[in-house]
Amino acid sequence: MKNTQYAVIGLGRFGSSLAKELVALGHEVLGVDKNANVADEMSACLTHTLVADTTDEEALRAIGIRNMDCVVVAIGDDIQASILTSILLKDLGVNRVVVKALSALHGKVLQRIGVDRVIYPERDMGVRVANQLVSPNLLDFIELSDEYAIAEISATGKLARHSLKELDTRAKYGCTIVAINREKETIVAPSAEEVLHEGDVMVIIGTNEQIDRFERSANT
Ligand code: ATP
Repeated sequence: MKNTQYAVIGLGRFGSSLAKELVALGHEVLGVDKNANVADEMSACLTHTLVADTTDEEALRAIGIRNMDCVVVAIGDDIQASILTSILLKDLGVNRVVVKALSALHGKVLQRIGVDRVIYPERDMGVRVANQLVSPNLLDFIELSDEYAIAEISATGKLARHSLKELDTRAKYGCTIVAINREKETIVAPSAEEVLHEGDVMVIIGTNEQIDRFERSANT
């Protein structure tokens, strides 16, 4: 299978971290930044790096950006550059354009342009960390929408040694245990007979409120 070809535009703190992780996950990553020093610094970590101002259509064409499977726009504070780059990428026919937004209004404009996904790293990380801080058993929390989330909850104390049937989370709380992480193993779509071990981590999907009620009940 062909590796996915990614380009990351803007190699600031977020863009460089994302680009390096994509390489670590085994993908080819082209890093683009208008600042030659920044591009230079990243050249050892990424498949290719280029210096270009991506608000320039000709520069984007010359890079061959159209051939990328997915382009992430991680330009920091320059909202105008972020929007112009995103318009050009969609005009040039890039299949999947993912853009970091700094504010709700920035995100709204990006949606109007027709980018494929808008991400809000600071906002989402704030939500995740706040949830982890208030709930000690909650190891991770990913918002799927305003209403739904996926959470990782540790099966300590009260929950351990019970089967999923006994916990009956779907009937009691409305949320579903979709996987269990047990040491190095992941049990996907566990059966009702599965018994939780001390130290297991449950991966749960549900509304924020359902997850919250389940998590609280586990603590009381
Ligand atoms: P982050 O916002 O990711 O936390 P940061 O604040 O360091 O990090 P910025 O420095 O504001 O982010 O921007 C990220 C990168 O985007 C910078 O290295 C900058 O040179 C690059 N960049 C800004 N405008 C353009 C552009 N038009 N074309 C290419 N790169 C650009």
